[in-house]
Amino acid sequence: MYRKVSVVRKAFSPRSDERGRLSFKIRVRAENKSWLHIGTGSVKLEVSENTPKYIDKLMCEGKLTLNSLKSAIDRGVIVVGYDYYECTRYHGRIVIPGSSLKGVCRSRIELLHRADDRGYVGSCFIRATAPVTQAPKKGVHGWRHYTIWGNVLGEYRGPPCQVTDRVSSVCSTCDVLGTSGLASKVLFGNLISGNAETVKLTLDFNEKIEAVKPGAVFEGDITFTSCNLAEVGLVLIGLNLHDPEKPILIGKSKYRSRLVVDGPPDVKGKRITFGIVNLKVTEILVPYRFKDYLNKVVGVETPYINELGFIVLKGVQVSKFVDKAVSETLNVNPWIREGIKVNELEILRSSGVMQ
Ligand SMILES: [Zn+2]
Repeated sequence: MYRKVSVVRKAFSPRSDERGRLSFKIRVRAENKSWLHIGTGSVKLEVSENTPKYIDKLMCEGKLTLNSLKSAIDRGVIVVGYDYYECTRYHGRIVIPGSSLKGVCRSRIELLHRADDRGYVGSCFIRATAPVTQAPKKGVHGWRHYTIWGNVLGEYRGPPCQVTDRVSSVCSTCDVLGTSGLASKVLFGNLISGNAETVKLTLDFNEKIEAVKPGAVFEGDITFTSCNLAEVGLVLIGLNLHDPEKPILIGKSKYRSRLVVDGPPDVKGKRITFGIVNLKVTEILVPYRFKDYLNKVVGVETPYINELGFIVLKGVQVSKFVDKAVSETLNVNPWIREGIKVNELEILRSSGVMQ
């Protein structure tokens, strides 16, 4: 299964030339169909209740410096424990961070690419890990990942793209999403939830996390700068935005079910799944100067214009735009025509990895 392949690269496209290209944004709605935990890695700390009074007093007076706090912890005067891993918040609201979204989008795009018979492929792996040389056995690190992606993980694509004074050639994924020395043309905003409810769970392996209950809705924007339709389509495919019924898997424990050792009565003692999120485009906002492009290239007419001068596409116009972009991508990118059919959740379920 190990196979050395060549990445197809060409000069990166201009970042600010709008000829034949679009700058615009899409509004995205996400709903978690399972439990969800996307953390910053920071933990909520618990301070023991028998902390001496004089420490309290010093704190109230603002006299406790960070150093003396550390030394009090070292001496055991204050006992601090880890309570649980927190979900990511933005201004107090639970979010799916844009950076996580971008990470999933990118790694999916890379893995959806398959080298052709001649040994060429349209995308590098940005994190060059050693190619898999044989299928990992069940239970061994990486076997769930392998269950989904199979032989692609055996492709050795060499070092990732990098733009320097001398090198300006990149693969199509890096051209859109950026790489070392090259800015991304797509900005992933945080998807913010207005209704997310969280609970504290203790999972197997004594992992304590704050988790979002199923059914939370998250909303936010993804902004494109000077992208052609094929590039837009690539990003849409990366997040399954072309097929809202097909979820993406995101966050902690996304490939496995976990046992709830302690938590609310309805889940305590049961196995639950994490990270199944369905995304869809609800609106597309395009600056008025692209009106002709929308008419001629995308085939969208009589647009609605909002008070800020944006053309707002909704409903069937959104579908038309998305379909057009995705078919453009498939036209110019033969390496993802097979991969686009992959449904990670279905594979995990049918292979018994996740119930
Ligand atoms: Zn690349």
